[in-house]
Amino acid sequence: MGSRTPDDTIAAISTPLGEGGIGIVRISGLRAIDIAAEAFRSGHGCDLRERSRRVYYGHVVDASGQVIDEVLVHVMRAPHSYTREDVVEINCHGGAGPVSAVLERILEAGARLAGPGEFTQRAFLNGRIDLVQAEAVIDRIQARTKAGLRAAAAAADGVLSKSIHEMRDTMADALAHIEAAVDFPDEDLPDLVDEGLRSRLDAVSLRMRELLDTAEAGRLYREGAAVVIVGKPNVGKSSLFNALLRDARAIVTAIPGTTRDRIEEIITVSGVPVRLADTAGLRPPQDEVEEIGVALARDSIRRADVILLVIDGSQPVSREDESLAGEVLATGQPVVLVCNKRDLGQRGEFPGGGRFRATARVSAKTGEGLGDLEQALASLLLGNASVVPEQGLITRAHQRDSLRRAEAALNHLLAHFGASPEFLSIDLRDALAAVGEITGETTAEDVLNRIFSTFCIGK
Ligand code: GDP
Repeated sequence: MGSRTPDDTIAAISTPLGEGGIGIVRISGLRAIDIAAEAFRSGHGCDLRERSRRVYYGHVVDASGQVIDEVLVHVMRAPHSYTREDVVEINCHGGAGPVSAVLERILEAGARLAGPGEFTQRAFLNGRIDLVQAEAVIDRIQARTKAGLRAAAAAADGVLSKSIHEMRDTMADALAHIEAAVDFPDEDLPDLVDEGLRSRLDAVSLRMRELLDTAEAGRLYREGAAVVIVGKPNVGKSSLFNALLRDARAIVTAIPGTTRDRIEEIITVSGVPVRLADTAGLRPPQDEVEEIGVALARDSIRRADVILLVIDGSQPVSREDESLAGEVLATGQPVVLVCNKRDLGQRGEFPGGGRFRATARVSAKTGEGLGDLEQALASLLLGNASVVPEQGLITRAHQRDSLRRAEAALNHLLAHFGASPEFLSIDLRDALAAVGEITGETTAEDVLNRIFSTFCIGK
């Protein structure tokens, strides 16, 4: 990896643009300290290049010595920095004005504007972190729930990487044995491809399965789940939406058909960020605006992870309810039947209730039964797998894809363990390459660039 180490110096604003107490311009690379020194005038006559200290007070000045901003400068020398390069962080006043002016001065002094995720990419290229950890950095920034943050923090700290490196080491060791058997077929060596080797590889395959089983939870913690509330007008969809939100954003009214737009909010269910959408009443549209609302509703139903079908449980089940049930069940997505208005009593069972993945009796008005509904939702989303975020989760589609290929290759090998070592080594090489894609060791350059380009600038 060292050969890919960049030799230019990059700079970017690392804090969000907008008014704030402090803004940070970060510089990284071989010339980071020289470049910062050129733009900096110390309040105490110090030079940034002196090794005696790490924090300097002073001003960023333009080429003529004119003060741009009052700053505090942190100098971190390679390899003791985020990127393992020399890094300088200039803390200036927050707000687009000062931060942009300081950045501009640093670029003028010789740095290049960093691309998205370029600091983290350097940490990766310089071998400080692997790809799993680099991606966990962005998961950490984007985490929307505490559980998501715990999973990202564990992955950033290397919990997941360690697990993957262990698999790789076991497979690499097995490969060495198998290739020795290829190279010295007639030698009087002890059996190199033996049961011990097989059971070590079995254990790796098992571990791969365990990790793959975290992928769905990992995706949900990271991306969130889409849950959509549907039902005919007046059954209490908006009330349920509000009750779940414990907020009052949707318009609640007794006039049918007023929830015309889809309204979306994020709530947390068992640590999973859930985008909860309230849809327009699914009835034959009366006008153009309602038609748009109904089209939007159908669209979100198709893309939902879980559908909450709300009926007014205090009324006899109507034909309209039944046809709506048929429509949502036909999507193939998991549907929870929510019998609302429990406070008004219960009138009749829904026919074919077993078609629903769960049934909850609630009152959006009093809040009764909402806990059960949330629990049903959580177990539908996360399954019954007891996922422990601290043990690290597979969070991305490409990780899951690579791991699936690794598992398939390894299982192919295990199923043909008696085959000639040449064949075994092909499978093992495939499995190793696939696992290496997760940590970034065998990841193609363009894939890497694509991954880092999804990061924010300044990170
Ligand atoms: P939507 O058209 O399905 O969105 O229904 P709304 O949320 O606008 O509610 C329709 C009417 O039912 C309103 O008058 C609500 O106050 C009432 N409502 C909603 N949920 C409950 C409930 O659990 N119990 C009772 N008693 N009334 C409810």
